[in-house]
Amino acid sequence: MAKIFCVANQKGGVGKTTTTVNLAAGLAKLDQRVLLVDLDPQGNATMGAGINKAKLTASVYEVLLGMSDVKTARLRSESGRFDVLPSNRELAGAEVEMVELENREKRLRDALALVAQDYDFILIDCPPALSMLTLNGLCAAHGVIIPMQCEYYALEGLSDLANTIKKVSASLNPDLKIVGLLRVMFDPRMTLSQQVSDQLEQHFGDKVFKTLIPRNVRLAEAPSYGIPGVVFDPSSKGAQAYIAFGAEMVERIKLLDK
Ligand code: ATP
Ligand code: MG
Repeated sequence: MAKIFCVANQKGGVGKTTTTVNLAAGLAKLDQRVLLVDLDPQGNATMGAGINKAKLTASVYEVLLGMSDVKTARLRSESGRFDVLPSNRELAGAEVEMVELENREKRLRDALALVAQDYDFILIDCPPALSMLTLNGLCAAHGVIIPMQCEYYALEGLSDLANTIKKVSASLNPDLKIVGLLRVMFDPRMTLSQQVSDQLEQHFGDKVFKTLIPRNVRLAEAPSYGIPGVVFDPSSKGAQAYIAFGAEMVERIKLLDK
């Protein structure tokens, strides 16, 4: 049965998509069977996995509204060697259209049950908002991975996210846990980066992943080729870090079961 993780942070541009795509490809390199769910109407994860979001016959939008199912809508990322439940702008409409539906927070969870046997990991890339889409991600997941930039404002908003996660686990999904905070776009030459990173460790202890993802231009270049960074330039510092993060996740889910 797949372990399902949401990559969430309502702040924009903090590295959610880069983390989801590279973790998916990193886990695939470790022979894990992975499905990436793109839950963001921007469709960045879809494109980053090498799938043209303009040419989808079915997407996560149809799946959420019950017009298609995951087996029909999923596509293969050839470059990343994982499956993708793709998305595009259409998904923005789902937010409103789902209001009418029963169990609207649990549409994704119910849809993923169909393919849970096919994967070791399902990774959900959330949009930058605490919206109905993100709520669907949180209801479907066993755990949340929170990417954070080590900057002054990083901690702002973290309490909103933590409260949302608490509420969801109290009422809708008792399984849900924060798996960890992932420090991304880390710049060791900046004193502030180091200070915020130390603070995170002091406050959150082993909820902070050991792996640090450095700022690395190869990770930023890779999406324009439709290739995950860990495949595009495996020897780059960014790729190496995401591969190490994949290994850390494999270890961490063993503890999650206990
Ligand atoms: P959004 O909230 O819009 O969905 P996001 O949280 O998914 O954004 P990304 O799209 O992953 O964030 O990253 C934002 C930008 O930063 C992108 O241009 C990406 O290529 C770049 N980026 C992400 N991580 C790194 C890194 N470690 N090193 C260098 N650039 C990075
Ligand atoms: Mg994104």
